[in-house]
Amino acid sequence: ANPPRQRLALLIRNVQEASRLLGCKDVRVNCLDEYGMTPLMHAAYKGKADMCKLLLQHGADVNCNEHEHGYTALMFAGLSGKTDITWMMLDAGAETDVVNSVGRTAAQMAAFVGQHDCVTVINNFFSRARLDYYTKPQGLEKEPKLPPKLAGPLHKVIMSTNLNPVKMVMLVKENPLLAEAEALEKCRRVMELICEKCIKQQDMNEVLAMKMHYISCVLGKCASFLKDREDKLDGLIKSMLKGRDSDGFPVYQEKFIRECIRKFPFCDATLLQQLVRSIAPVEIGNDPTALSVMTQAITGQVGFMDAEFCTSCGEKGAEKRCSICKMVIYCGQACQKMHWFTHKKVCKILQEQREKQEAESAKLRMQQSTGTSSISETKYDTE
Ligand SMILES: [Zn+2]
Ligand SMILES: [Zn+2]
Repeated sequence: ANPPRQRLALLIRNVQEASRLLGCKDVRVNCLDEYGMTPLMHAAYKGKADMCKLLLQHGADVNCNEHEHGYTALMFAGLSGKTDITWMMLDAGAETDVVNSVGRTAAQMAAFVGQHDCVTVINNFFSRARLDYYTKPQGLEKEPKLPPKLAGPLHKVIMSTNLNPVKMVMLVKENPLLAEAEALEKCRRVMELICEKCIKQQDMNEVLAMKMHYISCVLGKCASFLKDREDKLDGLIKSMLKGRDSDGFPVYQEKFIRECIRKFPFCDATLLQQLVRSIAPVEIGNDPTALSVMTQAITGQVGFMDAEFCTSCGEKGAEKRCSICKMVIYCGQACQKMHWFTHKKVCKILQEQREKQEAESAKLRMQQSTGTSSISETKYDTE
């Protein structure tokens, strides 16, 4: 037995001590325990992000596959439910298509235990290295297709699991290098090239192809607003948010996403046909929206409209409610401000709807608690 090796496994909780140990010559970072687990697998499974980072820095093999049931570090990360660790494994080069002894990939394992956020992270991962390929001149090119300075900001857009077009435009807007028509045009073309590659490569990836195509459409739209509109990207955000008078439904956004899907250049793709079948019969303004259908297809997120998502940008974890109607939520004041120009037209209507609902349910509770049935007195709405 190798004492330092055992200690390393035991000290997986103590980053400082592990750091000291990893400095010793006789400690192997990829040592295995009796089940074939590496320290990285242990740390990933226990959700210890700092420890994972430290081990990776010391050369831990993210694709070590000696586990008795064929589990990889990425599978353990997915099981832990920690999206940051899952992302870290992917970023370190974890293979996504390896299967364990029951034939499941990391994404399938995570889905099996209900860790859907990790599934989303795995399905949407696109390594920086794959993008950086386009920042070097290929073949006879004098200039690369993608200026290297654009790779970072573009990668951030690609990695977004929130496909809400408002959020995507905000990501473009926040980076001055990207928010420029010519730069966007270059990025858009690279997205279309990657889309094509995803379809034509041996293990075809329609999901990633659709995502790349969608991003290309959003970037194209940004470029055209920058060229043609005085209000630039703010104008585009406003168009995407503007609700129709009757119920505040953002018609422009819905039509934009439907058009993106229809313009997908590979008409034989199964995913395209599925999307069109789900969206085509739905009247604009009804559920499901094109955004929800596409988000579900690309990220695997189910029922994402029910949870706490920002009305403006679609970010998860929104908590700020409109103080008047209390019917819409936002991730922050900026998003609420951005939405007010259109929300103010329906806020009152929503407020009345809510008050009516509350009054009715209060009345119902009263009747139930007093036990008196007052059907004869109930006034029915005739509208
Ligand atoms: Zn927001
Ligand atoms: Zn309101």
